[in-house]
Amino acid sequence: MTSRRTFLQQSAAVAAAITLIPRPSRAMSTDKRPLIVSTWPFGKAANEQAMKALQAGGSPLDGVEAGIRQTEDSGNLSVGLSGKPNAAGFGQLDACIMNGPGHQAGSVAGLEGIRHPISVARRVMERTPHVMLVGQSARDFALSEGQESIDTSNHPALSAKWWAQQERQVRPTDVNADNHDTIALLVLGADGTLAGGCSTSGLAGKMPGRVGDSPILGSGLYVDNQVGAAGATGIGENVMRYCATFLIVEFMRQGATPTEACQQVIDRIRSLDPKPNELGICFVAVDKQGRYGAAGTTEFPYAVTYPGYSEVEKVAAYPGN
Ligand code: ASP
Repeated sequence: MTSRRTFLQQSAAVAAAITLIPRPSRAMSTDKRPLIVSTWPFGKAANEQAMKALQAGGSPLDGVEAGIRQTEDSGNLSVGLSGKPNAAGFGQLDACIMNGPGHQAGSVAGLEGIRHPISVARRVMERTPHVMLVGQSARDFALSEGQESIDTSNHPALSAKWWAQQERQVRPTDVNADNHDTIALLVLGADGTLAGGCSTSGLAGKMPGRVGDSPILGSGLYVDNQVGAAGATGIGENVMRYCATFLIVEFMRQGATPTEACQQVIDRIRSLDPKPNELGICFVAVDKQGRYGAAGTTEFPYAVTYPGYSEVEKVAAYPGN
């Protein structure tokens, strides 16, 4: 006969199992195109801007650019020229963009003083024979393309003094807007084509010249028009050593849902990394069927927008604890 103690243990186990079973959610539905998914609560405004671009007749790529430009202009402390400075007291921005049709990509890294890195990345993709430009040469290209330059020397968040005044010591493993974040934004268009982009000022206090995962294709962002797209945020060093977003897309190709694919990549990284409990990484993904998902080593809010729906959803730290 089942003792009270055993019964309680079994009940607790069942309850725990129930909470782990993915709810039949909107993520299971496939009728939500165009679908826009991005990192962090600030992604919601970006998604909505992207949706406006799509509704005005823009392509998924136009939606990506419009959405990320919104974040770059929003005063965000981790994206664009308002982002926190590097260790030398000035901002160096990273961004990339991918268009599913044609498997095209453009990227910039270490870009200084330019208002919209995502637009420069798009121009690298569309107007040069190359994929990636860096540093002063990326800036020169941006200026030659008429991209807006802003003198940030007086920006409070970009002065060494401001940086020195910060009360809180940055803990690199805290993935939150206090020290680093990225807008990674994925669009599945009404026509089933995919595009994605990301933009960041990178880790606050990084060494000058440090480049994170965000502008590295297959690390901070990857789009495969036959399968799906994935984007990353968190400590770039723990993403780029594993080609994480490429791997997420490959797991989706093998049949994983977007959420499963993000979790499987965290499993993979944890199994290989010498510091598996200090990763500070989060992922979003969408697939060609219109499913979406996310996973993070910390609790991770992300923004989801499709016709009639625009919300910040949240996943618990994975494995949940
Ligand atoms: N991934 C970005 C970087 O390492 C920062 C972040 O998303 O938190 O530059």
